[in-house]
Amino acid sequence: MLSFYNSLSHLVEEFKPLVEGKVGLYTCGPTVYNFAHIGNFRCYMFEDLLKRTLLYFGYKVKHVMNLTDVDDKTIRGSQAAGIPLNTYTRKYKDAFFADIKTLRILPANVYPAATETIPEMIALIEKLFEKGIAYQADDKSVYFSIAKWPSYGQLQKIDRENMRAGVRIKMDEYAKDAVADFALWKAWDEADGDVKWDSPWGPGRPGWHIECSAMSSKYLGKTFDIHCGGSDNLFPHHEDEIAQSEAANGCKFVNYWLHCAHLMVDGTKMSKSLGNFYTLRDILEKGYSGREIRWVLLSAQYRQSLNFSFKALEDARLALARLDAVLQRLQEATKSPDAGADDIAPALAKAETQFADGLADDLNISVSIAALFDLIRESNRLLDAAQLAGKPAQTTLDLFHKFDSVLAVCTPDPSEKQDVPEEIQQLAEQRQAARKAKDWARADAIRQELDAKGWVIEDTPKGPHFKRK
Ligand code: AMP
Ligand code: ZN
Repeated sequence: MLSFYNSLSHLVEEFKPLVEGKVGLYTCGPTVYNFAHIGNFRCYMFEDLLKRTLLYFGYKVKHVMNLTDVDDKTIRGSQAAGIPLNTYTRKYKDAFFADIKTLRILPANVYPAATETIPEMIALIEKLFEKGIAYQADDKSVYFSIAKWPSYGQLQKIDRENMRAGVRIKMDEYAKDAVADFALWKAWDEADGDVKWDSPWGPGRPGWHIECSAMSSKYLGKTFDIHCGGSDNLFPHHEDEIAQSEAANGCKFVNYWLHCAHLMVDGTKMSKSLGNFYTLRDILEKGYSGREIRWVLLSAQYRQSLNFSFKALEDARLALARLDAVLQRLQEATKSPDAGADDIAPALAKAETQFADGLADDLNISVSIAALFDLIRESNRLLDAAQLAGKPAQTTLDLFHKFDSVLAVCTPDPSEKQDVPEEIQQLAEQRQAARKAKDWARADAIRQELDAKGWVIEDTPKGPHFKRK
């Protein structure tokens, strides 16, 4: 049984999909006006963990992630760069796909772009007109009348008494105390340049919120299982999505709403507008790998705020080195005769149960990671005592790989392979020659010299293995 905290009920609820064994999942994608920062990736990482967990538990998942390639920010960006909107957003779409690959995020089944879904958005707005909920204002833009939709405010408590009924807001982003009729269709004005589409209400472009309502129902139906985003999407974006979709379609929009807490920097939300952000590229350039960044972003439960630090990346490096080492030892051990089936069996059973229980409990990844490390510890203990080899070693490896279908951290990135300097390689060769000649004193002296230069050599059956100290 899986349970998730549903932002709609404010409760942890048992997950029951509309169709047994299948899940429709919609995740708000990037606004492609810049490189995504690692705060955004915390959100996509939580969604990846959710999706991989659903797959782990045997569900078939249809995952839709939109690309917001027309909104206030993309238009402003393309104008500042002096290039057409689609040329401008193409660059950031490509960068996004490259980045999610680096972070080992499973691709969605569909990535609809807002600019390719305009007819569906217009159709949805027309339905809202038919129901008397949309209206065209003097500025020619079309708005959603919150006064006509009494159930406005499902995710966030809205102060209906002091609601500014009839007040309109054209901007895509606004605060809760600025609740107002929001734009469904924004009439073209000079600031939009050549960005415009024809509509029954004149030339213009969609509001941000209608984009997600149209793109989700196009691929997942009018009612679907799970919708995710960062907690800053709760209001107004998701609130407005619910209002538009439910008012137009006359049925429930989404059964489970999941939101992740923010990635913070020194106690403040990482965000582009505050300028306190790192893109994935910034961190890769500092010599950390996608796998290490993945580990950091993954390692806190998604509803807990997570503070970004380089210390956390260093800790990730150490944790992953322990994982790599045990996997390598187990791999070697599979070549020896069978040993330790009964010794490892209880640890395998316990780890597998605990790993799944953690995920099932609202993606409590800390419990699952603790299960992983318990298994690392027990495997090392038995390997040290030569009590885990052959088939039981393979069974243990298999469980690590099963866990890896969720964690995706068992294989190092190519960038993690270390370049061993020429001088160190030569010293290592001289040491090998000394060992061959059984000149142990000389071999030891070279080992010490390597140590002084910051390198550790481990002799493995495949030859010497280098590590920076
Ligand atoms: P945007 O491209 O601004 O629409 O943001 C894309 C996604 O990243 C949204 O779901 C946001 O809620 C989420 N997001 C933005 N900043 C952060 C942050 N600091 N931590 C976690 N998620 C974030
Ligand atoms: Zn959205």
